[in-house]
Amino acid sequence: MIEHFSFAVEDADGRARAGRFGMPHGVVETPAFLAVGTLATVKALDPEDLRELGAQMILANAYHLHLRPGDELIRDLGGLHLFMGWDGPILTDSGGFQVFSLATLRTVAEDGVEFRSHVDGSLHQFTPESVMQIERNLGADVIMQFDHVIPGQSDEAAARDACERSVRWLQRCVAELNRLRAGGPPPNTTLPSRAHLPTTEFPRPTPTYPQSLFPIIQGGIYDHLRRDAARAIRDLDDWPGFGIGGLSVGESKPDMYRILESLDGELPRDRPRYLMGVGFPEDLVEGVRRGVDLFDCVAPTRMGRNGAAFSRDGRLNIKRAEYRTDPRPLDEECDCAACRRFSRAYIRHLFTADEILGLRLLSLHNVHFLVRLMRGARAAIRAGTLDAWSHEWLARYHSRPVTTE
Ligand SMILES: [Zn+2]
Repeated sequence: MIEHFSFAVEDADGRARAGRFGMPHGVVETPAFLAVGTLATVKALDPEDLRELGAQMILANAYHLHLRPGDELIRDLGGLHLFMGWDGPILTDSGGFQVFSLATLRTVAEDGVEFRSHVDGSLHQFTPESVMQIERNLGADVIMQFDHVIPGQSDEAAARDACERSVRWLQRCVAELNRLRAGGPPPNTTLPSRAHLPTTEFPRPTPTYPQSLFPIIQGGIYDHLRRDAARAIRDLDDWPGFGIGGLSVGESKPDMYRILESLDGELPRDRPRYLMGVGFPEDLVEGVRRGVDLFDCVAPTRMGRNGAAFSRDGRLNIKRAEYRTDPRPLDEECDCAACRRFSRAYIRHLFTADEILGLRLLSLHNVHFLVRLMRGARAAIRAGTLDAWSHEWLARYHSRPVTTE
């Protein structure tokens, strides 16, 4: 594995694993949930909040940051860690998903994708090469390859085409990354003065750390395409980890779970597996049971801004009238900064009055909920009780009708 990256499976229970994923900016205990900071911010949360609630790693997005404020600007300001004030591990998604889901007027060719920005309509082209340049400018620990993402219900021919193109694009990503590495240290070697920053140990003085590239396995809902892609990718290199993309994009849950099971035997046991964009509590539990180590999803913060909170007994919508006089915390078992201090009645009041603290408290609670859920899964794997733990967890979570809608 690339220097500065390590992955050790410390315990296994069935297909599930408890491990440690070491990167230049720290170690992540897996299974882990990555908080999503698309625009170099986990919406409504300060990095200090994230540290306090136990988040270990953050995801940011190459497409969004390229458009706003620009990856070169972030490079010139010392890279993403310094720019956003987070000194832990960061992963950048390549923008494949966003180009195919958010941008308009896409033209897909073998060379790359031409699209119009969803922000201002300006014309851009992403190629495997340009995306590597962007992700290198951002400077995350883990960078994802540029891939061709298709809707979850795509037919087999479309899935095969996108899957095979993604493997060809992976080879171009590797070639470009090697070219950039050979050109000397990354462009963010010269850091601006840190004299204004509060502590001497932050940020860590390691501007020339290596970045590791994760390939992404595509193939839609077709087991054989997924397995073929995994084999083709494994034949190319000794990868530090594997992304599993194109799931949770409209396919059924049984399809997603089956694909994870069929990939389990194709992926090396001693490398982390990252299920991209999947992060509802039940999906995390089911994913861990099928050997996934890393997850990310915008759900906890997006739902939080809409008034929805996770709880051990299912989701609740704080805007409902039933919580108007409810003195209990969002989740009576939660020890987050919102649940320790505030009642459902107070948070409902904040939402009703359009007070910004309401969004913040629910976002904080929801991210904390998923981080804590993964800590629980890890403890169960280590104790060899994941089966019983996950059945009990899911039964209780689904025991009450969802009151979100
Ligand atoms: Zn809480």
